[in-house]
Amino acid sequence: MEETDQNIVMFPFMAQGHIIPFLTLALQIEKMGNYKIRFVSTPLNIKNLRKSLPPSSTIHLVEIPFDSSNYGLPPGLENTDAVTYDLMLDFFEASLSLKPHFRNLLNDLITGGDPLLCVITDMFFGWTADITHEFGVFHAIFSGCSGFGLGCYYSLWMNLPHRKTEFMEFSLPDFREAGKVHVTQLMDIMLKADGTDRWSKFLVYNLSSWVKSDAIMFNTVEEIDGIGLSYFRRKLGLSVWPIGPVLPSVDNRSRGGKNFGVSSDVCMKWLDSKPLNSVLYISFGSQSTISASQMTQLAKALEISGKNFIWVVRPPLGFGINAEFNAEEWLPEGMTKRVEEQNRGLIVSRWAPQVEILSHKSIAAFLSHGGWNSVLESLSYGVPIIGWPLYFEQFFNVKLLEEEIGVCVEVARGTQLEVRCEEIAHTIETVMRNDGKGKKMRDIACEVKAVIEDAIRDEEDYKGSSVKCIQEFLNAALL
Ligand code: UDP
Repeated sequence: MEETDQNIVMFPFMAQGHIIPFLTLALQIEKMGNYKIRFVSTPLNIKNLRKSLPPSSTIHLVEIPFDSSNYGLPPGLENTDAVTYDLMLDFFEASLSLKPHFRNLLNDLITGGDPLLCVITDMFFGWTADITHEFGVFHAIFSGCSGFGLGCYYSLWMNLPHRKTEFMEFSLPDFREAGKVHVTQLMDIMLKADGTDRWSKFLVYNLSSWVKSDAIMFNTVEEIDGIGLSYFRRKLGLSVWPIGPVLPSVDNRSRGGKNFGVSSDVCMKWLDSKPLNSVLYISFGSQSTISASQMTQLAKALEISGKNFIWVVRPPLGFGINAEFNAEEWLPEGMTKRVEEQNRGLIVSRWAPQVEILSHKSIAAFLSHGGWNSVLESLSYGVPIIGWPLYFEQFFNVKLLEEEIGVCVEVARGTQLEVRCEEIAHTIETVMRNDGKGKKMRDIACEVKAVIEDAIRDEEDYKGSSVKCIQEFLNAALL
């Protein structure tokens, strides 16, 4: 294949969890040939991205106008970092205002003599398919979710099956392979949805537009996520390419501007001092947090279990995750001191170097909200998961990991349900044991690690499944 300056436009939704995988994919494509990539976002995100791009990269950052105050949102709101849950839908709806600017951007590029190879946009920007096709250009969606998780989510919103049954557990009418779904796996916005509410309208409008795209790429691996990928192949009749895991290099994430609550050096030194498979890592992703009472129960569970741990602590629900805080004030009295004296744990405020931590041989398990990036990172290092899903498709990621793959035990669900420290401690002990169920989960996690390594193997005479898929995608766009 001869490529000379093939122009690709990439356009993620304005959220760190979307921008980071898009940027990582852009850097990966950049290495694969003479591709000229335009990475599009709103001015504030572009400003932040300038700090994240490696100096050697030729990716062009392109601004698209967006003024949140025009849509009843506080001024200067350009990504979900600062969007509270109650403003989320307003922010989604406001993102529809990007339509004319996106059309102008494509028009300017094309009339400026830059023929486009393809446009890759976010799963929340399904509307870009129609606009891209006005210019006769290939359009693909890139989803950072798992096929299984997103498949459940898609089916739930498109069918609202919980509205048609009085049972707490039910099957998804067009995705029976996913098994039973329980109402406690549905967020309140979905429980209240009847098809005419604002959430339903926005999401169904968006999800229905996917079928107009030419392809969907998933940040996942065929061998571990085949059920969900088959669902989308059948449902949308599009090319579905699993190209993951697309994970940012350690270098890129530290340039992302997040303030670590602990330095990598301190973390690594502390982990070095611990025995093999003896530490539990706890984090609820980049934005989420649990309730104050859940936090207390989790803290007590850590004291009961007596295991070593690293816990990324945030203020509990209702206290604004960006507020200044002292981890100690949310933990049982004296816990920080006790843990310090026993040298048993690192309590980290807000943000930790997650990938480095997961890559350390002392880590035995990851108590995670089941965000797909965290899952991929954990499995890439063969670390089993204790699942505590909080929102969106996280419930179904955890279901996939537990019921289909066998690398996870769900310990709790959501931010509202009551949890008991004794039960959490019991699950932690089971998963961290070096025999029985814990050992079995670790063995499977190691097998999955090998599968992932194989999927991204890129050698002269051997291409893994994800490497082949990304090449197939570029070939399809070229046709
Ligand atoms: N992350 C991190 N340090 C933290 C918390 C999160 O580096 O203290 C990173 C993590 O490695 C992952 C991302 O933030 O890449 C979280 O993405 P995920 O999809 O797991 O969850 P989300 O933040 O989208 O809920």
